[in-house]
Amino acid sequence: MSNSYDVIVIGGGFLGLSSAYELAKNSSRVLLLESGDIGSGTSASCSGRAQVCEGHLDPLNIRMIVDGLDRFNGLEDELGTTFDWRKSGILLIIRTQDSWNHWKERETILTAAGIPTQVIDRVALQEAEPNMNTSGLLGAVYAIEGMLNPLKFSLAYADAARRSGADIKGNSRVTGFEINHGRITAVKTINRTYYCDKVAVMTGAWVPEITRMVNVDLPIRHTHAEAIVTEPIPKMIFNNVEISDFYETIHGKQRAVAIGVHPDLHGSIDITEAVTKTDSYERHVSAWGITSLSKELIELYPFLNRVRVVRSWGRPTCFTPDEEPIIGWLPQIDNMYVAASLVETITVIPLLSEWMANTIQGQNPPFSLEQFSPNRYVNGWQWE
Ligand SMILES: Cc1cc2nc3c(=O)[nH]c(=O)nc-3n(C[C@H](O)[C@H](O)[C@H](O)COP(=O)(O)OP(=O)(O)OC[C@H]3O[C@@H](n4cnc5c(N)ncnc54)[C@H](O)[C@@H]3O)c2cc1C
Repeated sequence: MSNSYDVIVIGGGFLGLSSAYELAKNSSRVLLLESGDIGSGTSASCSGRAQVCEGHLDPLNIRMIVDGLDRFNGLEDELGTTFDWRKSGILLIIRTQDSWNHWKERETILTAAGIPTQVIDRVALQEAEPNMNTSGLLGAVYAIEGMLNPLKFSLAYADAARRSGADIKGNSRVTGFEINHGRITAVKTINRTYYCDKVAVMTGAWVPEITRMVNVDLPIRHTHAEAIVTEPIPKMIFNNVEISDFYETIHGKQRAVAIGVHPDLHGSIDITEAVTKTDSYERHVSAWGITSLSKELIELYPFLNRVRVVRSWGRPTCFTPDEEPIIGWLPQIDNMYVAASLVETITVIPLLSEWMANTIQGQNPPFSLEQFSPNRYVNGWQWE
């Protein structure tokens, strides 16, 4: 039957597209349903960093970062197109003694684990970024991370998935399911019903909306993150720059700015994030967000006060109570797989999508993903 598939993937962001590719590459008949355009949720609007040193330090996360970065070697050739993959320095600004002490400990652990990381003082920070206003800063964490163009990365996976035989359908919002004896038998959009053996829900911040359609409540919330991009300027910022205490800065607050500055290949500067806690899904920016973001930006790089902002946007970014991803089969529905809320998303995508495809196809991935299973929330959960 032309509308019958081995796996239906819901969501056309990094997770859904890369999984659709890996599944189709391994001979599954795959349909991907995306409610808008490819990448139009959060993925294509992100900063494109393949982060290396900001995540959890448990063995699985470390493994996913180290091997995940390796997996990028040759990936542009494999997917058949460029997505502007390159290496970049990252400086995580240290503003407090607590953060300095915390990162001195992490520096040792990360470096020993194969992720070279160095805490540098204010003088070295000023040398690395001569145009930065470093007054009041203690120093920074320095490492080398990856960078890519997130829209090209999304489209590269979509095209490669199509070439491998997957059907990718945009403007196809999933509205419901047919269930028989605890198994999904069909996925419904407004106009059509598609039949399947398995379903992979990879709708990012919208995962709870989908699982509620089968009466499963998952603890995934989101914040609204606002960002801006400037006109191209001559090279005056040399590294990606973030704050070292991102989570502490936004934690427990209704609104906060966690400044991040990322020069792109063509001279524009991508600037993130003004963060607001919310239950709604918005794409616009607020007067508060853009003003606060600009204020912190100009404090850090005063010369930017004469540079024009050419575009601004907001997107949801999701999190769980323990800030670990949710990845695995839903305990309540036999054949529904869920994946959302990764920590260092881009870094792990090429590797993790292989492992998730293995699991969905009934094989064992090289490393168990059990620690991310939704089973951990079966008896409820507590938000801090
Ligand atoms: C400003 C900003 C900067 C960021 N920078 C980085 C960064 O530098 N590096 C990094 O690794 N991460 C970054 N992130 C986080 C990263 O963007 C996300 O982790 C990632 O995009 C999540 O991918 P996803 O596939 O899970 O979700 P999404 O990209 O949101 O994809 C889910 C898709 O599901 C679709 N969908 C929703 N409901 C339905 C439905 N009913 N039917 C069909 N489709 C549906 C949505 O339209 C969406 O396209 C950033 C986030 C923000 C907001």
